[in-house]
Amino acid sequence: MNRAMGTARLSINHSAIAANWRALDALTRCETAAVVKADGYGLGAGPVARTLARSGARVFFVAMAEEGAAIRGALGPEPQICVFSGHMEGDTDILRAHRLTPMLNSVDQMLRHVEALPGHSFGLQLDTGMNRLGMEPGEWSALREIAIEQNPFLIMSHLACADEPDHPMNAHQLRLFRDMTAEMEAPRSLAATGGILLGPEYHFELTRPGIGLYGGLPFAEAEPVVRLDAPVIQIRTVEAGESVGYGNSWIAQRPSQIATVSAGYADGLIRAMGPRALVYAGEKPCAVVGRVSMDLITVDVTDLDTAPETLSLLNAHQTVDDLALAAGTIGYEILTSLGARYKRKVLG
Ligand SMILES: *Cc1c(COP(=O)(O)O)cnc(C)c1O
Repeated sequence: MNRAMGTARLSINHSAIAANWRALDALTRCETAAVVKADGYGLGAGPVARTLARSGARVFFVAMAEEGAAIRGALGPEPQICVFSGHMEGDTDILRAHRLTPMLNSVDQMLRHVEALPGHSFGLQLDTGMNRLGMEPGEWSALREIAIEQNPFLIMSHLACADEPDHPMNAHQLRLFRDMTAEMEAPRSLAATGGILLGPEYHFELTRPGIGLYGGLPFAEAEPVVRLDAPVIQIRTVEAGESVGYGNSWIAQRPSQIATVSAGYADGLIRAMGPRALVYAGEKPCAVVGRVSMDLITVDVTDLDTAPETLSLLNAHQTVDDLALAAGTIGYEILTSLGARYKRKVLG
């Protein structure tokens, strides 16, 4: 019996991550990379990257150079590791030491790169309307010839509305990306998870899925990757009219059995999900009652036949996107918020 264990357990199914990569790869005829930024969307960048490399991924993307160094350590010398933030001041040594490929975002980054690391692999990031990263059409037209002579590994841009297939922004960005890269031989990339699902004209030579690998929307066919089970610390009887938790926000309407579960907002269970979230005892849903506190949530288990020892927050019935909906956020934020306090168990 693990009654003494007060720590919730996050199970990360690596077979599902591998299956999701293969499923996304099978939707295109081009190369499929893997985005492992933000510690592999919160699931452990090193182990996740190793699983993806074993599945066949040869190109990896991270947000910044330090993340790339960690991935290099996990994967060894072979894979290409690309950095979205490009070549920032102070990045030169780490880019060189770990043979990382910066995705250059501006003329300044381009100059810095060719000066500091001549001949070192790089890519180019173009802005096609998201106004977040990359060179805009004017800047790009001035640089284009010189940049191409330097033989970029990849030319990429990013879609702002790919999770809404009918959004006119998609076709607009596609057209602009085609115009900006016309008659270029370098491989191109426009699609992340959402872009892959928009269809073949968005695929070009390489796709860059992230969230779909980890079981999140918009890849609705994804296999769920995470399971979160938290131990019940106590169960108490609450009479009709009594309140539960901070602010007395929940009042029992009937005599109730309330389970106090060991996981809270410090573990990424966002406070806002409180009144709409469910917790599962096996197949049976139970309501979260009262406010989510830092380390604890309270759950109405009155209708269960037996007292639960653990309750599950993420499972086949409730995905990261279901929990996100309850919290008014997106699956990406739920995943990357999952706390460091969980006991992590790697499956598969
Ligand atoms: C995060 C990111 C991705 C991956 O996006 P998903 O929606 O998680 O598939 C791809 N490209 C860029 C530039 C990103 O920032």
